[in-house]
Amino acid sequence: MEIERHEYDVVVIGAGGAGLRAAIEARQQGKRTAIVCKSLFGKAHTVMAEGGAAAAMGNVNPDDNWMVHFRDTMRGGKFLNNWRMAELHAKEAPDRVWELEAWGALFDRTKDGKISQRNFGGHEYPRLAHVGDRTGLEMIRTLQQRVVALQQEDEKQHGDAEAFIKVFQECTITRLLKDDGVIAGAFGYWRENGRLIVFDAPAVVLATGGIGKSYVVTSNSWEYTGDGHALALLAGAKLINMEFIQFHPTGMVWPPSVRGILVTESVRGDGGVLKNSEGRRFMFDYIPEVFKDKYATTEEEADRWYTDQANNRRPPELLPRDEVARAINSEVKAGRGSPQGGVYLDVSTRLPAAEITRRLPSMYHQFKELADVDITKEAMQVGPTCHYIMGGVEVDADTGEADVPGLFAAGEVSGGMHGSNRLGGNSLSDLLVFGRRAGAGAAAYVDGLAARPKVAEQSVAEARAEALAPLERSGENPYEVHQELQRTMNELVGIIRKAEEVTEALEAVEKLKERARGVGAAGTRIYNPGWHLALDLRNMLLVSECVARAALLREESRGGHTRDDFPSMSAEWRTRLLVCALAPDGSGVTVEEKVQQPMRDDLIRLFERDELKKYITDEELAAFDALAG
Ligand code: FAD
Repeated sequence: MEIERHEYDVVVIGAGGAGLRAAIEARQQGKRTAIVCKSLFGKAHTVMAEGGAAAAMGNVNPDDNWMVHFRDTMRGGKFLNNWRMAELHAKEAPDRVWELEAWGALFDRTKDGKISQRNFGGHEYPRLAHVGDRTGLEMIRTLQQRVVALQQEDEKQHGDAEAFIKVFQECTITRLLKDDGVIAGAFGYWRENGRLIVFDAPAVVLATGGIGKSYVVTSNSWEYTGDGHALALLAGAKLINMEFIQFHPTGMVWPPSVRGILVTESVRGDGGVLKNSEGRRFMFDYIPEVFKDKYATTEEEADRWYTDQANNRRPPELLPRDEVARAINSEVKAGRGSPQGGVYLDVSTRLPAAEITRRLPSMYHQFKELADVDITKEAMQVGPTCHYIMGGVEVDADTGEADVPGLFAAGEVSGGMHGSNRLGGNSLSDLLVFGRRAGAGAAAYVDGLAARPKVAEQSVAEARAEALAPLERSGENPYEVHQELQRTMNELVGIIRKAEEVTEALEAVEKLKERARGVGAAGTRIYNPGWHLALDLRNMLLVSECVARAALLREESRGGHTRDDFPSMSAEWRTRLLVCALAPDGSGVTVEEKVQQPMRDDLIRLFERDELKKYITDEELAAFDALAG
C-alpha cells in the first residue's frame, strides 16, 4: 500500500502547550512546520490543566521574583533539578504568560486589573496565573488561535493558509527515522483509516506529554502511553530521572469508574482542608524536617495565613505534592481513611457556596455529575493518583536538543527541570518556556545544516512492518497485557516501593514484553483501537522498564520516589542522576549513573546555609562556605 509523504523543516509531535508553543516559534522563525497529534487538535493534557501557570509576576505579592520562584522549584524537586532549566524557567515564565495575554488569553484579574495569581503547594507566594479552574483550556485556546493567526498571514502572503504551518490530527507517530545517526523524519499512521504516513524532516520536536496509562489509577487520559519517551529511546536518545513519578495527592476515589480523575490542588490553595475519618486535620502530623520552619504547626496559624501571609506560616495542606500524597497513603493504611479508601477534602465548611462555585466551577460540576456529591455542602473523598512523570528525554537546557542531532523535546516528555518532584503550576509555565526554546533550537539547527538528511527507505520498510504486525497475527488480546502492566506498576512500583517488589515488577515486565510481541488485533485498519493499543504497548513497556530499573537502583527516598527499605533522603544520592538508554541489542533498557553538575555560584548563593545543609554533602557545604567566606 502506498505511503503518504510530506516534507517539512520541523515536525512537532504533540499539540499540547509545549508542542503548540514550539511550532509557533519554529514557524515564526520561517520554518515549514508540521504539528502532528494522536488525538483531536485541542484535546491534550494541557487542556485539562486546572490550577494555573506559575510565574513570578509579583501581582498579588510584590515580594515575589524569579529568585524566590527558582528557590521554591529547587526545594520542591529536592535539589535534584537541572538548575539551569529551573533558572531559565523562573526567569522567563512571566514573559511567556504576558505573551499569552498579548495573544488573547483572558486571565482572572486582581482588583486593580492585573493578572490574578493563586496559592499552590510549595510556592512561597500566590503565583499561579489562572482562569477559574480551567486555565489549560484558555492556554490551548490562545495558542491555537495564534496558530490560526499565523495561518491567516500565510494565506495573505502565499495564498495557502497551510504553507508554513499545518496540523495533522488523529495521526500517531510510531517511529523516528534517521539518516546515518541524525534525524531525518518520522513514521506514523492515521487513526481513522490506518493509512501510513512519512514525514521527511531534519528536525523533530517531541512534545508528547506523559506516561500515566501504565498505571491503573491515573489522572491521565488514553493518549498518555509514553510514546515520546519510547520514540526518543528507540532513536538513541537518553531518558533521565525516570524513577520520579508524581502521585497527585487528590484524585477522585469513588465511584470506581472515575477513580483517579484529578481534584485540583486549587481546592487546597483556596482553603480546602484534608481530614481523616476521625475528623483530624492530619497534615500537621506530617511536616518533614526540611520544611519545619516554613509550615504552620497549629490550625489557628494555618487559617490566619489565608488573610495574613506576612505574619503566618503556610498550612501543611500546601506542602509539595509528594509529601501530601505519602501522608494520605499513611492515613489510609493506618485505618483512618474514608469508606471508599481515601481521605476527606473539605471546602464546604471553609468558603461560602457561591465562592466555591465561582472559584472551582469544574470541581463543582465534576463531583455533582460523576459522584453525586455537592462540594458546597459536603466533603469530597480523595486519594493519590498517578499524575505526572518528572523523568524524560535528557535535553540541553537552552535549546531543548537531545543527544541525537535533530531531535528536540519539551514539556512533560523532557526531563530534568523538576528534579524529583514538580510543583503544581510549574508544568504549564515549563511548556511555554521550553516549548519556545525547543522551537527556536530546532529552527537554528535546520539553519545550520549543510545538507538535508535523507530517510533511508529500509527504515521506512521496517517501521511499516512493525506497525502492521499486530494486524497480521491472531495473538493475545492487547487489553489483557495492558491491564496486567497497569496492575503491576500500580502495586509494585507505585507510591511506596521496596527492592523485592520492584524486582518482581521487572520480572513481570520481561514476561509482558514477550507476550506483547505476540499480541494480535482482530479487524481491519479502519479505526481499530485494539490495533492502536497493541502498538502503544511497546512504548508503555519500555517506559515502565525505565521507571522500575531506575527505582531499583536509587537507594534513597526523594520526591516522587519513596523506598520503604531506604526511607531517608541521602546527600550522596543528590549528586547522582540515573540515565536510561536502549540496550545495544534493543532488547531492553540499561541505566547508568551520571554526576549532577554543581550549581553555579550565583545560584547557590541564593540559599541560606542552614537550608542547604539539609540537602548537600559535607564536601559541598565546605565548598559553599569557601564561596561565602
Ligand atoms: P500534552 O498537553 O499532554 O500533549 C501531548 C500531545 O502529544 C497531545 O496532543 C497528544 O495527542 C500528542 N501525542 C502523544 N503521543 C503521540 C504520538 N505517538 N503521535 C502523535 N501525537 C502524540 N500542570 C500545571 O502546571 N498546572 C495545572 O493546573 C495542571 N493541572 C492538570 C490537570 C490534569 C487533569 C492533568 C492530567 C494534568 C495537569 N497538569 C497541570 C499537568 C500538565 O497539564 C501537563 O503536564 C502538561 O499539560 C503536559 O503538556 P505537554 O504539552 O507536554 O503535553
